[in-house]
Amino acid sequence: MSARHDVVIIGGGLVGASLAIALDRLGREVALVEATPAGEMPAVFDERNLSFAAATVNALSALGVMQRLQTPPGPIRRIHVSRAGDFGRVVLDAADYGREVFGQVVVARDFGAALESALGDCRHLTRYRPARFLGLASAAGGVRGLHVATDAGEIELETPLLVGADGSHSSVRGALGIQADVHDYRQRLFVARVRTTRAPDGTAWERFGNDGPTALLPRGDRHHGFIHGVPEDQADAVAALDEAGWLARAQAAFGWRAGRFVASGPRSAYPIVKVLAQRVTAPRAVLLGNAAQSIHPLGAQGFNLGLRDALTLAELVAEAEDPGTDTLLDTYARRRQPDRERTLRFSDGLARLTSNDAPLLRPLRSAGLLAAGNLAAVQSMLVGGAMGFAGDVPALCREDAA
Ligand SMILES: Cc1cc2nc3c(=O)[nH]c(=O)nc-3n(C[C@H](O)[C@H](O)[C@H](O)COP(=O)(O)OP(=O)(O)OC[C@H]3O[C@@H](n4cnc5c(N)ncnc54)[C@H](O)[C@@H]3O)c2cc1C
Repeated sequence: MSARHDVVIIGGGLVGASLAIALDRLGREVALVEATPAGEMPAVFDERNLSFAAATVNALSALGVMQRLQTPPGPIRRIHVSRAGDFGRVVLDAADYGREVFGQVVVARDFGAALESALGDCRHLTRYRPARFLGLASAAGGVRGLHVATDAGEIELETPLLVGADGSHSSVRGALGIQADVHDYRQRLFVARVRTTRAPDGTAWERFGNDGPTALLPRGDRHHGFIHGVPEDQADAVAALDEAGWLARAQAAFGWRAGRFVASGPRSAYPIVKVLAQRVTAPRAVLLGNAAQSIHPLGAQGFNLGLRDALTLAELVAEAEDPGTDTLLDTYARRRQPDRERTLRFSDGLARLTSNDAPLLRPLRSAGLLAAGNLAAVQSMLVGGAMGFAGDVPALCREDAA
């Protein structure tokens, strides 16, 4: 069997699903190829807490996704950054920037269900699932051919634009021959839902310890999202802690600003590896989201950045008859470069403030974070990241998009 679609998206995770919804509004005939079977959610829609920048909230509201969340998101009204062993801190209040909130905290599982509901209403979308991208096929000029494995056997698809939204280990990236630079932070990030004696009050806390970062995010269900980075050589021992040991570790790492840690949901753990594709386009193909760049989760920017990838592409496709020309893809790559570089600098900067591999630098890092001279730079970095409006953002991200 073979079929042709205006755009074929490989990967129905956070970014691929968002792109499919955005393109459906344009009336484009799109295929979404996802390895996870119908009726199940891709594993990435787990218990992780996602901080959505204000720009992301605007866009997902305009796409009709935010309205489908089952649990109200947790507003971020303040950001509080401190270092263990220091008296200094940086506190940012959205009101000082003329805003009610910097962004919202959403649980990935809930977001997955909202995306699934919006995908169900798409009118021009063909879904292949479970279906797995196998590789490229030869095709006539002006289109890409690709092989896809489905339960019913192998099929061939043709498209003028192939989108690789298949995550950090992207097979599309590999098949296109695009190299990636990989950096292992040698940290494991533990994530859990926790309850403390103080309910969330709209503050997102970031605490840098000598061994790694710890953050507490205000969820909308009266729990906090707890995130705790641990050097790889300690990670197995942390994974083996019972609940009392885990709560004691959380308390020691975070301190008492949110009261006593009293209960925790199950822990999930993620190795932290940065993967940067050396190019994001190839003839009649583009990489988006984690396939293009997987960054340290500490700055909470991965999806925010990937969504801006997807919406920029959708904007260019809206104006084009042929969605996969070299001109369109060159324009795409040029438009995305500044945001990609800025966001990488932001995430790397935060990761360096907390990395555990250069103990002699710790006092300097500490002074660097909190010195008055640096405060403005740290603040503008945090506010820029938290809101996501810097530079040439897609129109759907703007305030009046919804
Ligand atoms: C602990 C943690 C916390 C995070 N917190 C935040 C946050 O607060 N804010 C934020 O913006 N970002 C955050 N992120 C980052 C965010 O999760 C990622 O940026 C996002 O998941 C990237 O989406 P994606 O669609 O590009 O890739 P993925 O979500 O990885 O999706 C890839 C999809 O492709 C499918 N797939 C893979 N291979 C194939 C194939 N061959 N054929 C078919 N389908 C395939 C997979 O099944 C999957 O569904 C966090 C990440 C982690 C680990």
